[in-house]
Amino acid sequence: MINISMSLLDEMLREQLKVWPLATDNYAALGRTERRRFKIGALEGAFQYNPARIVSTGAKTDKQSIAQRRCFLCSDHRPDEQYSIPFTVDGGGEWEILVNPYPILPWHFTVASVNHEKQGEIPLDMIVLAEQLPGAVMFYNGARAGASAPDHLHFQMVLKEEMPLINYLESGGDVSQLPYRVWYRIVTPDNDGMVYLREFTEIRGTDRKSGSDDKDLVNAFAWMGDDGYLRLVVVPRSGHRPSCYDAGSGEGMLVSPGAIDVAGLIILPRRADYERINVSDLAKIYSETMIL
Ligand SMILES: [Zn+2]
Repeated sequence: MINISMSLLDEMLREQLKVWPLATDNYAALGRTERRRFKIGALEGAFQYNPARIVSTGAKTDKQSIAQRRCFLCSDHRPDEQYSIPFTVDGGGEWEILVNPYPILPWHFTVASVNHEKQGEIPLDMIVLAEQLPGAVMFYNGARAGASAPDHLHFQMVLKEEMPLINYLESGGDVSQLPYRVWYRIVTPDNDGMVYLREFTEIRGTDRKSGSDDKDLVNAFAWMGDDGYLRLVVVPRSGHRPSCYDAGSGEGMLVSPGAIDVAGLIILPRRADYERINVSDLAKIYSETMIL
């Protein structure tokens, strides 16, 4: 079994960018993204203009569209240049680590199940991988909470220092001051994460105000804290896309919140949306898709 480490993945990213023009171009384009900072509640985040993300934000995730396209996470359909690093958990899943060719941040990987199976429950293997990658945060988009490939089980990872929510919590921020509700626990990889998730599922099931007991409407984050303990954050969602969502050329905005947007980086693939969105728009987007 390959020992996964930050330096192994750094090297993988360097190697992939040498030989894979799609990834090379999209990582280079990140240098040209624009950002505008905002503060909502205690969360200090940023709006990010990122035209390359139109592939994901505008993704058609209805059953028919999914059935008609080739799954880009299945090994048979990947570009020739893309390679993977295996990650297997004893008693858990079999995964492949892949460079994400449509990055939001300069270090952005996808961890896909070796099997073509649906996004289901939050994969606890995220916590196991977080233990091996202290600089990274793993995150998960439920099937109707930002996943652009809901038909193929996967999670993603970026550097934790890039995520406003993680920085806030690591600096001792109070979860009750966030602009939406989260469940936050310090866990060990063996068992605690499982206990916690069961607790979470029970709370969610009995909490009518949450508006959802739907496993597809959830985002989750796992990382190792600066103190060496593991963290798990689960964010229950009340909706998939906000009322302003518009992939056409109408009055709305092309914004479809996933875990990265929940964490305080609002990804806007269209310049017009980027230029006009403000904090009250964001408050409305959060109020329609998150639990307050
Ligand atoms: Zn697949």
